[in-house]
Amino acid sequence: MKKDILQKGAILQRDRETYAIAPHIPGGFTDTATLRKICDVADKYGLTLKITSAQRIAMFGVKEEELDAVWTDLAEEPGAAIGLCVRSIRICPGTQQCKRAVLDSASLGLKLDKIYHAMELPNKMKMGVSGCLLACAESGVKDIGIVGHNKGWRVLVGGNAGPRPRLGEMLVDNIQTEEEVLEVVAKVVEVYKNDPQQGRLGRLIEEIGIEAFRVRVLGTQQ
Ligand code: SF4
Repeated sequence: MKKDILQKGAILQRDRETYAIAPHIPGGFTDTATLRKICDVADKYGLTLKITSAQRIAMFGVKEEELDAVWTDLAEEPGAAIGLCVRSIRICPGTQQCKRAVLDSASLGLKLDKIYHAMELPNKMKMGVSGCLLACAESGVKDIGIVGHNKGWRVLVGGNAGPRPRLGEMLVDNIQTEEEVLEVVAKVVEVYKNDPQQGRLGRLIEEIGIEAFRVRVLGTQQ
């Protein structure tokens, strides 16, 4: 029986015959040449396209024997849509486009994407970076959610959607620089990676409580 093919970023579809793939489009920021290429490949192989919640374009209907050729034609990296890893870093347009933005979510989010996209972890992890409190990148329901506001960056941890939705809890607030946010995220990921529990980050925080988690990450209480 056919299965997902992780190393080719291929997810078996409902017909149990064909696969879906999704090229990595960091934060959903793309350009017309890339979109044309995706459309050309879709036309060539008869694929259906869908824009996903992970800010990617899923390409449905790839035959197993054509997977390599499709990836060669695309000349793009697979998005981490399956497996135990950092699946996606969702990023809102931020100060580069949005009139409501307070901080540059695109700059911070793309730095996070570079470091963490597809990093293997005990379970899946999602991140979201929003440029204001409206949190359009759904930062409140991401394992690590970051929100910009007038006093700095806020980092939320332990959120997730899915069958047991959970809101992220505030780990630290009013962070002044992107570098400091990156340091906090690095510590969160390190603590999570080294903990024996294998669930999502929210399960670990449920187990030990946000205060104990904060001490583990920051070495201090709020
Ligand atoms: S979160 Fe704020 S800055 Fe980002 S897109 Fe939404 S309104 Fe704009």
